[in-house]
Amino acid sequence: MNIIDGRAHAQAIYHDLAQQVQQLKRQPKLVIIQVANHQASEAYIRGKIKAAEAVGIYAEVQNFPESIEQNQLLTVIAQLNEDRTVDGIIVQLPLPGHLDEFIVARAIKRSKDVDGFHPENLGELLIHETLLEPCTPKGIMTLLEREGIELTGKHVCIIGRSNIVGKPIALLALQANATVTICHSRTNNLHQHTQQADIVIVAVGIANFLTDDMIRTGAIVIDVGINRLNGKLVGDVDYDSVSQKASALTPVPGGVGPMTVAMLMSNTVVAATNQQ
Ligand code: NAD
Repeated sequence: MNIIDGRAHAQAIYHDLAQQVQQLKRQPKLVIIQVANHQASEAYIRGKIKAAEAVGIYAEVQNFPESIEQNQLLTVIAQLNEDRTVDGIIVQLPLPGHLDEFIVARAIKRSKDVDGFHPENLGELLIHETLLEPCTPKGIMTLLEREGIELTGKHVCIIGRSNIVGKPIALLALQANATVTICHSRTNNLHQHTQQADIVIVAVGIANFLTDDMIRTGAIVIDVGINRLNGKLVGDVDYDSVSQKASALTPVPGGVGPMTVAMLMSNTVVAATNQQ
């Protein structure tokens, strides 16, 4: 069984991106907007800053109190949109309940939307390729490509239909000529769908959700989930059983997660190249 090493791929990508950054006229700048202090968000932000340093991107964190009103946040974003020294803007999720994530995502200028959450960037995926693809789906596609896993004609089964993972990965897999099934919380007989798939992508958010009886022998399994179980970070895949049956599997941690961060850096370099 091949354990797909997302960290190693991410490091190789940083190396390539660093060379691209050298060719730019000025250092790319990424602004990370953080509202309130969540412990989990802190760790994610630290990871993004470290990755930016590896690539040569200047990452600036702008921190705002939990009490910030939506209009104030939108004003901050509007100023960053106009600032020509800023190439990429992201808003660290989740936001406090009084802030509408959809409205906030929409406020970011499309060309600086390096998370790829803007409805126009997501919508463009439906019609053709978009310049700034959402990071996790782009990371999964890059991982499959770098592992030499061809999607043409393959049956890809995705569990999860979120706007940031399930739906966009389905569109990207379709563009890559896969036959795609999207399953979700209301899918009947889920295992009958997953058992037929060559590639199963799980983005549910439930620890040990996908078990070996749900896949065919030799399937490729991509685990997107991030869950805390007994103080440990685990994915959505029951690793012990699935690793005995799959031909390839992404671990958690160390699989899709590092690729998501790497694609954020890749999108920032794309945005900077375009702006400059
Ligand atoms: P979400 O909560 O928005 O969506 C979860 C999806 O799972 C829903 O579409 C729902 O229909 C489906 N689902 C729930 N219960 C189900 C069931 N019993 N059977 C079948 N489907 C079911 O979550 P999301 O934002 O897509 O994230 C999913 C997981 O991926 C989470 O654990 C999240 O932390 C993780 N995640 C990881 C990365 C990464 O970089 N590795 C990035 C984004 C999200």
